[in-house]
Amino acid sequence: MADVKLENIVKQYEDVTAVDDMNLDIKHGEFVTFVGPSGCGKSTTMETIAGLTKPTSGTVMIGERDVTDLPPKDRGISMVFQNIALFPHMDVYDNISFGLRLRKYDKSEIDRRVEKAAEVVQLNGMMERMPDEMSGGQRQRVAIARAIVRNPDVFLMDEPLANLDAKLRVHMRTELQRLHKELDTTIIYVTHDQAEAMTMSDRIAVINAGQLQQIDPPLVCYNEPANLFVAGFIGSPSMNFVEGEVAGSGFTSDDVKVSFNPSDYNLGRGKDVTLGVRPEDVYLANNSREAADPTVPLTATTDVLEPMGNEIFAYLTFDEDATSSMTDAQLPGQLLISVDPDTEIEEDQEIEVVLDRSKIHLFDTAGGKALTHEITDTGATSTAGADAEVGTDD
Ligand code: ADP
Repeated sequence: MADVKLENIVKQYEDVTAVDDMNLDIKHGEFVTFVGPSGCGKSTTMETIAGLTKPTSGTVMIGERDVTDLPPKDRGISMVFQNIALFPHMDVYDNISFGLRLRKYDKSEIDRRVEKAAEVVQLNGMMERMPDEMSGGQRQRVAIARAIVRNPDVFLMDEPLANLDAKLRVHMRTELQRLHKELDTTIIYVTHDQAEAMTMSDRIAVINAGQLQQIDPPLVCYNEPANLFVAGFIGSPSMNFVEGEVAGSGFTSDDVKVSFNPSDYNLGRGKDVTLGVRPEDVYLANNSREAADPTVPLTATTDVLEPMGNEIFAYLTFDEDATSSMTDAQLPGQLLISVDPDTEIEEDQEIEVVLDRSKIHLFDTAGGKALTHEITDTGATSTAGADAEVGTDD
């Protein structure tokens, strides 16, 4: 059993705090992905687990052992990195078996392990190939096989697919999931690509500025993001955000008003809140039946359309007065929606949309913390839209 535990890990580089009081409890057999923007501390956190970086303070546990001061070779881990460093003058067999030969394993044991690893990554029959005779994906599989033969308790993978082309990356994702299933081992994986994190992981650890924002299964991060950062980072295209405040009748901003009873959510009048709604949770009003709990229609104008084949992304703007009064760089006054590819929709067309209230998130604008992931109407008239009649707005 090899659980991995980080307790209060801090890594300070002069004036940069790369990892800021990280606590993680990863169970044996889990596939956990560290995700976050470049420079947020993913690799540094991984390196403290690997033993390549000594934390300024805090403890790293692998299984029952405190490994904080142990060198990488004594931690029971194997690593695969973005840059596939194969020995160019060695064939596949020699590359995979290099570490075992160095440790003077028995020839028959080496053969057994290499054969098993080659089978897992589907490289059988390629043992005599040289690295320059292989594709990028095949070379990456050799690197993974070389990690497998060491029978590690924990695999650490830092952006292992980053140098592969898009199609191969998608293929290798499936292979890594299969590998995880076959090996019954713990995998800790680093990527800046949230799609990779969503598809492969049991749990995603979202990191920003050295701090853990949320660690949860992918769909929990998607449906119940803990804060504005996670909400904006997980999901592509990103969630729409509208800044506003709590009024007596619910949420109000220049463009969007949604009614609810603020006391149901312990929200005081005048509190600055940000409404979040994903593009797929906004519907054309004539399709509003598809929304579980639609708001009343909101009038907007289509701007740019992006046909994707399976859906169309439509950027909407609200009336000009509202838009021109906006100052924020995040373009409030704009809403991105996703509509069916068969929808007859044109640029510069006035349309009506509704939001699915059961998929509306509210965040505390000041601290970013999520307040709710659903708005239930307690009988008040729901109103939305700058031009809609607003009940008891104050
Ligand atoms: P990520 O993997 O998320 O891109 P890193 O863990 O590589 O982020 O880096 C986190 C922060 O620590 C960054 O600001 C980076 O510049 C800094 N950093 C990383 N390694 C060093 C180092 N050896 N010396 C100084 N600063 C470093």
